[in-house]
Amino acid sequence: MSRSISRRQFFKVCGASAVAMPILGTGTVQAANSARVSYTGFDLDADKALIKKAVPIMLGRIQSKSVWQNVYDVSARYALSGKVMKNSNMTDNEKNRKNLLWHQLSILSQPNGPNDTGPAFPDINIRGNYKPKEKWLGRAHVDKVVIKWDGNEWVQDGEFDLEINTHYVNSGGRYNNAEEWASTIAHEMLHNLGHEHPEDDGGGEWQIDALNMAILCGGHYGHADHKHVCSFHRSGGHNW
Ligand SMILES: [Zn+2]
Repeated sequence: MSRSISRRQFFKVCGASAVAMPILGTGTVQAANSARVSYTGFDLDADKALIKKAVPIMLGRIQSKSVWQNVYDVSARYALSGKVMKNSNMTDNEKNRKNLLWHQLSILSQPNGPNDTGPAFPDINIRGNYKPKEKWLGRAHVDKVVIKWDGNEWVQDGEFDLEINTHYVNSGGRYNNAEEWASTIAHEMLHNLGHEHPEDDGGGEWQIDALNMAILCGGHYGHADHKHVCSFHRSGGHNW
């Protein structure tokens, strides 16, 4: 089901030029919107509690400009679904493709306009799934949430929807850490927004992977002077 929620009156002033210029220059607006979140499929209360603890961490950081900047500082590689540019109604060129993530996160972080009574952030559906033999922490479909220019204003359609492999939740070490799950949830949400990470590698990190590291590190991913749980984490290869 796709429905239009939370029209962004804020961006009306950008007019058609915004379609070609995804860096919108929104200055310091940082709403850190809350979101309605549903949790299903968690058999253990402790697992559900850890994921519930992770969500506000994720929401605060994914709406932080310093986290987006961290991604763009460390990663120049983007991989998008076949539909995301068309869905967005933005001009499909290299610059817009590279800037799409920043653009999407900027819009998701805006507060509601004066006549807008819906939630400012799309709903998030988190589904626990116990898969002890499978090597994934989370998974999600692409293109579940669309940020698009409707000819008049920016509109967001759809809901975030992702799975968490509960086999790993509270399984020890970093898997007992809410920040770790905040980063995984953010990564899956980027899949929902149309971002991918193809297998072919050799050119550095994809934006979607840099984002979950930037979430984990609170915007300090790759900063040599920042001692943090994330410092040992950059291992290449991932399983989600
Ligand atoms: Zn992934």
